[in-house]
Amino acid sequence: MTILESDSDRLLAAVRALLEQKGLVSTPEVRKQIAITDAANPGQGARMVAKAWVDPFYRDLLLEDGTRAAEALGIRMRGMPPLGVLENTPELHHLVVCTLCSCYPRAVLGYPPLWYKSAGYRARAIRDPRALLASEWKTVVPESVRLRVVDSTADYRWMVLPLRPAGTEDWDEHRLAATVRAGDMIGVTIPEV
Ligand code: FE
Repeated sequence: MTILESDSDRLLAAVRALLEQKGLVSTPEVRKQIAITDAANPGQGARMVAKAWVDPFYRDLLLEDGTRAAEALGIRMRGMPPLGVLENTPELHHLVVCTLCSCYPRAVLGYPPLWYKSAGYRARAIRDPRALLASEWKTVVPESVRLRVVDSTADYRWMVLPLRPAGTEDWDEHRLAATVRAGDMIGVTIPEV
């Protein structure tokens, strides 16, 4: 044991060794899963959003089963919690938070930003989401639009299908995808063109 080894490192090593010993998961499998998680990025979610904007059949699939919709674009979802997708409309805006810790749709957005894990975001998203969005992101959700805050958990991850920006009617999927940011798919921002 070295002084650099923390309790959590030792716990992780012990759990891994036990899983391997019981034949449940091997070190190469763990490495592979870490590589997949490391490679995930918001561009994957953006591709899903852009496709849903141009393809009504894909949009239906996305809203019905986010996991299958991701897999349909070649995004690996095996071993990941199920993904649900919430559609923003002119009357309804969604905001995603994990009130408990940091559950985030990593498979399609990559690692969560630091603010997502902060106690401030988690508390204010529940207490006064409209004020939080306006003060931190300059995202103004008018009082006439209902704001629904959704709790992402270890068992179920959520992402937002934002409204397609006006003026993009003749844009192709690729160009649309380039406009969609991670924050748009959590609901803290709205796609801009
Ligand atoms: Fe969490």
